[in-house]
Amino acid sequence: MNRRYRKTIIAGNWKMNKTPSEAKALIEEMKPLLSKTKWCEMVLCVPFTDIQAAVKAAKGSKIAIGAENMHFEKSGAFTGEISADMLKELGVKYVIIGHSERRQYFAETDETCNKKVKVAIENGLRPILCVGESLAEREQDVTMEVIRKQVKIALQGVAVEDIKKVVIAYEPIWAIGTGKTATAEQAGEVCAKIRDCLRELYGARAARAITIQYGGSMNAKNAAELLAQPDVDGGLIGGASLKSADFAAIVEAANQ
Ligand code: PEP
Repeated sequence: MNRRYRKTIIAGNWKMNKTPSEAKALIEEMKPLLSKTKWCEMVLCVPFTDIQAAVKAAKGSKIAIGAENMHFEKSGAFTGEISADMLKELGVKYVIIGHSERRQYFAETDETCNKKVKVAIENGLRPILCVGESLAEREQDVTMEVIRKQVKIALQGVAVEDIKKVVIAYEPIWAIGTGKTATAEQAGEVCAKIRDCLRELYGARAARAITIQYGGSMNAKNAAELLAQPDVDGGLIGGASLKSADFAAIVEAANQ
């Protein structure tokens, strides 16, 4: 983390878990545990059906609510999709774009991520853009080629004045939901190289202000070591964000 230049953000990704009443109960349980945060911004990205209950439950706390995806069109014949307008009206502040599960199972591409990132920004939503390599890509030593392509295409046309609104989440696919975490050195190295790429695209001043998270089996035990890396500015947390004590322990680590 480097709090001098950028915000530390711990975001939960609940994936397809929790009904609205369960969401309310979990947020009520988290609120007292998260009330003393000093530096760190906290976000819970929840299923669409939980948004209304989550926004209501989080009211008066420092927890912001995010969505896990959105469509890039404003409205129209896109059965089953949700637009930025719809999210905004519910009080959503963040939206995850290009999670590897959406890339893998729902045909999300760098090009659709690019459209979504721009539409999110236009609508005042902060995109959390996920990038990361597969195990095969890491083993073939093409991690940075893959990630640089993902970053460059997803950010095409995003202006320098807007880039600070984008959060990048480095999520090695082999570490998501597997219990296998990248070592702090691996996470730190890739996040630093992502910042190098952002520097090439936007200049040093803009690049140093961008929050870059690590995601992939981050938990109460390994968070402090990962967050101690200078270019790891937070976490995108799956499994551990469904347990109030674990999520609070990660936020606590981010406040040190
Ligand atoms: C995620 O879904 O973005 C994630 C990082 O999941 P987990 O923490 O469970 O690996």
